[in-house]
Amino acid sequence: MAGNFTFSIIKPNAVRTGKTGPILAMINEAGFEISAMKMVRMTTLQAESFYEVHKRKSFFEGLIEFMTSGPVFVMVLKHENAVEDFRKLIGATDPAKAEPGTIRKMFAVSVQMNAVHGSDSDENAAREADFFFTASERFL
Ligand code: UDP
Ligand code: MG
Repeated sequence: MAGNFTFSIIKPNAVRTGKTGPILAMINEAGFEISAMKMVRMTTLQAESFYEVHKRKSFFEGLIEFMTSGPVFVMVLKHENAVEDFRKLIGATDPAKAEPGTIRKMFAVSVQMNAVHGSDSDENAAREADFFFTASERFL
């Protein structure tokens, strides 16, 4: 059964260029409710652990450098069928391949600086939410 929450990050490029508000508005309009949210600047160790699955990829080092380059907003979002519906809302990893009207189509500047993260499975949504939030920081 599909879970009812996903985990998201508004990435450093989007925060830096003032896109946090517009991105949150799109998330809100799509019917997602914020269960948890905070602004953090990831340490290198945190980013390496968060993206552990990509450790052997050629883009790993650049990704870690980018994700630690400034503050991000991390959040837990509630919605029916949250993981799948949120991936649809954000669009493809590569903004050139993202559908019109998706968050990445509108706000990504490259494959790397693609504005937002969205969990790819219920298991990873749970892992990623627990990575950043304690139980008392989560609501709804
Ligand atoms: N990424 C990158 N170069 C690539 C592929 C991915 O820099 O060729 C970055 C990008 O920021 C992406 C993240 O690594 O969002 C994680 O990659 P993944 O394949 O999991 O894409 P996502 O699940 O975020 O769509
Ligand atoms: Mg992924």
